[in-house]
Amino acid sequence: MIFFPLALLLAAGQFTPANPEWNQPVAPFRIAGNLYYVGASGVSSFLITTPEGHYLLDTGFSETVPQIEANIQKLGFRLSDVRFLLISHGHYDHIAGVASLKARTKAKLLANPAEAPLLQRGGKGDFAFADRFPYPPVTPDRMLHDGEQISLGGTVMTAHFTPGHTKGCTSWTTTVKEDGKDLRVVIPCSVSAPGYQLVNNPKYPEIQKDFAASIAKLRALPSDIFVSPHGWDFDLEGKVKARAAVPTRNPFIDPKGLPRYLDKSEAAIREALAKQQRR
Ligand SMILES: [Zn+2]
Repeated sequence: MIFFPLALLLAAGQFTPANPEWNQPVAPFRIAGNLYYVGASGVSSFLITTPEGHYLLDTGFSETVPQIEANIQKLGFRLSDVRFLLISHGHYDHIAGVASLKARTKAKLLANPAEAPLLQRGGKGDFAFADRFPYPPVTPDRMLHDGEQISLGGTVMTAHFTPGHTKGCTSWTTTVKEDGKDLRVVIPCSVSAPGYQLVNNPKYPEIQKDFAASIAKLRALPSDIFVSPHGWDFDLEGKVKARAAVPTRNPFIDPKGLPRYLDKSEAAIREALAKQQRR
């Protein structure tokens, strides 16, 4: 049954359908302070609320958007109050829904200028995936600069350019308040190189240097809470279960989470690099 609409989509040269395993619904919840999880099982979406409107960071596949909308509503907020659409990077599993959300809200899409061409091409011409994962093209309303701080309703979101996974990969930091304490949140852009050519890549000659610099930059960010574009990288499922088991303890407050993730990512890149250099 699933093959029929899929075949239709592909035959029409349409956009890449969601990986259903990554797109399982997750009950939305508050991570800490004014930071909420509104994404699916494998593709994250974060709502950062303020009295003057909200930020929405990443919007999953096109097929994730109805879940995100329902999740925002379930939490008692309104999609129409989203003021800024922020993104980690221009791959279809994180931003395919951005064009439709941008068209239906007054939210402004802010982006790294190095990612803008990929967004405008709808994911086509990706240095690693070429035209394999297209999505509806979208043009940012405003370009960011590295280290830029966006302010809204008392919450500041800071953009950190961390290229490698894509040329305009952008990590985000903010601070939330929980029980009167400030908690520093780091939401890194993906630091993975799935099948990437790391040696002598004519489409991305600086890829090794960029990955190394981005990992070093992320290591320098203080973090009490680490969450990221894919649930498995911060153990979304395990942390949700742990919280249900012991509601008085917040497992998302995990200062070791970010260094652990970076160690793993760095080791995987080193291993891939060593393999490619031996060839
Ligand atoms: Zn990606």
